[in-house]
Amino acid sequence: MQPPHLSLYVHFPYCVRKCPYCDFASRASRQIPEQVYLTALGRELSLWRQELATDARPLHSIFLGGGTPSLFSPASIATLLGWIGEHWSLEEGCEITIEANPESLTLDKLAGYHQAGVNRLSLGVQSLLDERLKQLHRPHDVATAIRAMAWGRQAGFTNINLDLIYATPGQSLSDWQGELAMAIALQPDHLSCYTLTLEEGTPFFAAHEQGELPVLGEEEELLLFSHTRQWLTQQGMPPYEISNFCRPGFQCRHNLNYWNYGDYLGLGAAAHGKWTSQQGIIHRTVNIHHDQPYMASLMAGTGGRQSKEILTPREAGAETLIMGLRLHQGIHLAHYQRHAGISLWQAHGKTLEELLQDGLLQLAKEQLSLTENGVKLANLVLAKLV
Ligand code: SF4
Repeated sequence: MQPPHLSLYVHFPYCVRKCPYCDFASRASRQIPEQVYLTALGRELSLWRQELATDARPLHSIFLGGGTPSLFSPASIATLLGWIGEHWSLEEGCEITIEANPESLTLDKLAGYHQAGVNRLSLGVQSLLDERLKQLHRPHDVATAIRAMAWGRQAGFTNINLDLIYATPGQSLSDWQGELAMAIALQPDHLSCYTLTLEEGTPFFAAHEQGELPVLGEEEELLLFSHTRQWLTQQGMPPYEISNFCRPGFQCRHNLNYWNYGDYLGLGAAAHGKWTSQQGIIHRTVNIHHDQPYMASLMAGTGGRQSKEILTPREAGAETLIMGLRLHQGIHLAHYQRHAGISLWQAHGKTLEELLQDGLLQLAKEQLSLTENGVKLANLVLAKLV
């Protein structure tokens, strides 16, 4: 079996402040331990290289995510990319993304990232209405976001994504239409548009439980969701995944590798990795969640890892399906079978039949995908299948 692509994810767990809806592995920090964290990343990188000593695959993509990676200086990012380059060769066209929040940027900083080799910028714009940014407790305003986009282009980035959140409390369709039009006017190459989800344990979740945060109803949310997909398609940015849109040729190579169930090394606190051995055995790695014990573990030479497990074919099959069906093109039945060890018909024949009959899934040339109705009910469809 042809080995999958190998990507690298690096997690930066610090933010200026913690957003009230966020359950990502990140914490607010006035003074980030930049040098120590960088050293820990370097040590983990060497350990990964030792562990994968016989794996000659070049890196397909690198993603510097968070948290807020743009709290780190261009010099630190250059050092990290230098270390990565000492240990791994990079595929032709290797995509190197940095996630950046508008308030943390200057033109010089962006130019520094670009010079360091970063070739894709993902801006955490979230909203293009000041009142909504305040509602989300984001530290930037619309003017700062627009300026960051302009600086990104000036700094040389020809591949820019904007992250947007919608279906926020009180948001009307016309509000969202206005924001989307503004986003398109900024001429991004890629848009990630996620609906707000209330994650347990967050202040937004608690406020909602206490009746203090009225969220949109299912129908209102669906209206915004459908409009987003239709309107962005008309603007030349069709969805290639449930929540991701781009101009032709600007799909995110790194995320595509996740959705195609490729391999990725997870570096940094709380990072997850997935790696397939030459024998076809799939390993899942999970790093220590909090930054301090993660760094302490690497400084003490104990690896920074919380767990490493082998996935069963059943688990690998389920993950292949969950990831692949998110894509507009869906998943090839043979791709599922390769991982699950049995065909999708053997595993879920009856459910599959029902979902096809209900018009939520479609099958063409052995390629299974969600229909437009299925996309609206994606969570339900996936829950039935795995
Ligand atoms: S900036 Fe992003 S990662 Fe940081 S707290 Fe806010 S949503 Fe979470």
